[in-house]
Amino acid sequence: MDQYSKISHEAELSGASLVLVSKTHSIESIKEFYDRGQRAFGENKVQELVPKYESLPKDIRWHFIGHLQKNKVKYIAPFVDLIHSVDDVELLEEINKRASQNNRKIKVLIEIRIASEETKHGIVGDDSDKLIAYCIDNQLDNVSICGLMGMATYTDDEEQIEKEFKFLKSEFDRLKSKYFSDQGQFKEISMGMSGDYTLALRHGSTLIRIGTLIFGKR
Ligand SMILES: *Cc1c(COP(=O)(O)O)cnc(C)c1O
Repeated sequence: MDQYSKISHEAELSGASLVLVSKTHSIESIKEFYDRGQRAFGENKVQELVPKYESLPKDIRWHFIGHLQKNKVKYIAPFVDLIHSVDDVELLEEINKRASQNNRKIKVLIEIRIASEETKHGIVGDDSDKLIAYCIDNQLDNVSICGLMGMATYTDDEEQIEKEFKFLKSEFDRLKSKYFSDQGQFKEISMGMSGDYTLALRHGSTLIRIGTLIFGKR
């Protein structure tokens, strides 16, 4: 069994889905996995995602997983399936506005900073509460907050990684019961990459984002 089959199977056994991270990889290599049935692909650059979207079959679900600049939202708003990386109110407002112009409702995740490294994006403290409350109070009806995303520290220390994944799961449970207890849409915990997806699945991930293990080194 190759890595793709192995990882898809492991995800499925945990009730999670695989987002195949295709950044830097060619249309042809994406098509190979499309032909094997993969439909969810992840990209982190708008200028790379748009031409891939244009060249590939339209039933692909494109996940935007990188840091998203406000002025680029308009280019992906017509088609993006899920934006994993919302970490401020202005970005959420912009997504809502562009979704509305396209008569769409765009699914988003709130990116929480769980890593100890300073460089990572993501929200800390109760800013996630503020973001959700803002969305509800201002009736941003063209975005749907579907859960949380986080990236663990890049380290060999499994205890550290587990601590971070447990924290993301506990934030998910807390926010779910506070704001979404009667809404099924808040259900995703996007955590786990090539180096740590097994731990992520063990701690409740519903979306693993894997590139290197399946495509090889970038
Ligand atoms: C590149 C990337 C991944 C995939 O990383 P691999 O280590 O290649 O599996 C996952 N999530 C985000 C946000 C990324 O930028």
